[in-house]
Amino acid sequence: MNMTPPVSRNVSQSGLLKHHLQSVHDALKDDLQGTLPAYIPELAQADVHTFALSITLPDGETVQVGNTAKTFTLQSLSKPFSYLLALQTCGFDAVLQAVGTEPSGDPFNSIRLEDRKSRPDNPMVNAGALVVAQMLLEKHGSSAPSEVQGWFERVLGHPVHLNPQVLQSELQTGHRNRAIVHLMRNLGMVQQDPEEVLTFYLQLCALQVQVKDLSLLGALLAGSGRHPISGQQVVSQEVVRQVLSVMFSCGMYNSAGDWACKVGLPAKSGVSGGLLAVAPGKLGLAVHSPSLNTHGHSHRGVLACQMLAQRLHLHLLDAWNMEGQA
Ligand code: GLU
Repeated sequence: MNMTPPVSRNVSQSGLLKHHLQSVHDALKDDLQGTLPAYIPELAQADVHTFALSITLPDGETVQVGNTAKTFTLQSLSKPFSYLLALQTCGFDAVLQAVGTEPSGDPFNSIRLEDRKSRPDNPMVNAGALVVAQMLLEKHGSSAPSEVQGWFERVLGHPVHLNPQVLQSELQTGHRNRAIVHLMRNLGMVQQDPEEVLTFYLQLCALQVQVKDLSLLGALLAGSGRHPISGQQVVSQEVVRQVLSVMFSCGMYNSAGDWACKVGLPAKSGVSGGLLAVAPGKLGLAVHSPSLNTHGHSHRGVLACQMLAQRLHLHLLDAWNMEGQA
């Protein structure tokens, strides 16, 4: 096992990080295993060769390699941030009453709701994210999409576009999500028009970013809500802790346990092939590679995070400190 000390902040950190990103990129670039998500036809046309990695430090420095100019839709990577915004705007009590914080052990699109009492298990699976979307809709009405889009634009410092083809594709073929939201309407977990809730949820999924945007969002969480570039506290530490906690326990769906052992970081994936891992106090790590494993996570993204977590000693339960001392 590699027991070399972790990256020291005193060494030329960006040079060392670039070296690690490049070597992981080179090691995995020919691994084209996995499949594209056929249930969203627009995403099934992605270029499987696309592979990009990015790290942003809490002081805003970003190091990236690969096809970093490509944009991709957030998909389920929107879930931690819609949860964050719901906690921020609706308050902990209301959000926790509507959505739990327990891992379900089920896939992201699980429809197993009937034996649950009054709320979805957690905000990282589709059912929970749909209820979170409903809360934001209730709060902001028809301006909810622009409120969320505006938040991303303020944090990222540039316009964030919605991909209309991906939105249409999901609206047309999203029968399973439609079934989940209608079932929740029947069970009283959703009170609003299910089609409006579904459309808003899918609008959030269809927002587009680049890999460096994702790592910056990760660095915002890694820095306890302090913006990596402006230095301003844009999210409270309490909200960030809650978001990271559910990412840690529920973000990787029914492979959350395996991920906890092999990577040991709060994380979230999206079926567009984006993957975000957060090393609190250290960095945000993002990968984009569209082919997915059987859990719906980026195949190369998972492997890249495993390799980088080991090389940079990022596992939260390791006792290394930032200076490289055990
Ligand atoms: N829009 C996708 C869905 O709801 C998101 C799933 C994911 O990225 O894991 O099916």
